[in-house]
Amino acid sequence: MINTELLTENCKELGISLNDFACERFDSYAERLVRWNKHVNITSITEPEDIVTKHFTDSLAVLKYVQIPDGASLVDVGTGAGFPGLPLLIAKPDIDVTFVDSVGKKLAFIKEVARLNGLVCDIVHTRAEELGRDADYRERFDFATARAVAPLNMLCEYCLPLVKVRGRFVSLKGANGAEELKEAENAIKTLGGELESSNAFTLPNGDKRFIFVIKKISQTPTKYPRRSKKIDTKPL
Ligand code: SAM
Repeated sequence: MINTELLTENCKELGISLNDFACERFDSYAERLVRWNKHVNITSITEPEDIVTKHFTDSLAVLKYVQIPDGASLVDVGTGAGFPGLPLLIAKPDIDVTFVDSVGKKLAFIKEVARLNGLVCDIVHTRAEELGRDADYRERFDFATARAVAPLNMLCEYCLPLVKVRGRFVSLKGANGAEELKEAENAIKTLGGELESSNAFTLPNGDKRFIFVIKKISQTPTKYPRRSKKIDTKPL
C-alpha cells in the first residue's frame, strides 16, 4: 500500500529508526485508512505518498524534538484518525496512549487499527475540556499531544489540565504557528505552562511545520478548563 522505503528514509532524516515490524503496521494502518475513508469521512489525505509524509512523518517528527521515556503516558487530544498518537504508538509501543475525540466513528477506526495490529491503548469518547474536569484524568498524563484541533490558545485549555506538573503538552502546528504562539502566551501562563522549545521544520514535501513543547510548571487553577462555550467565546 505505502512505500515503506520513503517512510524509513523520511524517518532517518528525523533521526528515527523504524524496524520492519513497525513498517508493516504503518502499511496496515494506511490500508485501513483508505478503506474506511470510502464510507466514513475520517481524513482528507488519502494518496499513499501524502499519507507517508503529511500524516506519518509529520506525526513522528514529535520524536525528534521530544524525549518520550519508555512507559510514559500520553493523551492524544482530538486524535481524529489517530494523528499523531497512533504513529507514535507504532514507533514506540511501550508508551501508554489514550486517544480522545468527540466523534465516535473516528475512535471506532482507531480501535480497529489497534486490534488488527495488536496495539494496546485506551480510547475515550468525550470532549477534552470535559475530561480535564474529571478527577480520573486531570493532571494524569506525562504528555498531551494535539494536531489540527483548535487555535493554540484554546488548545492549551483543552490539553494543559490533563498534563501532570513537570509533564509536557506538545502542539503540532502549520505555517502560521508562530502567530498562534504569540496569541497563546497568556493561556500558557494562566494554565500553569511555560514554553520549553519552539521547533520549526520543513516536511519532505516542502510544508512548513512547528512543534511547540510546553512544560507544565505549576498546577492548572481549578476553574480551568471552563465550559466549551466559554472557551470558544472568551478564549484566554
Ligand atoms: N488530530 C487529527 C489530525 O491531525 O489529523 C484530527 C484533526 S481534525 C481536523 C480535529 C479533530 O478534533 C476532530 O476529530 C474533532 O472531532 C476533534 N475535536 C475538536 N475539538 C475537540 C474537543 N474539544 N475534544 C475532543 N475532540 C475534539
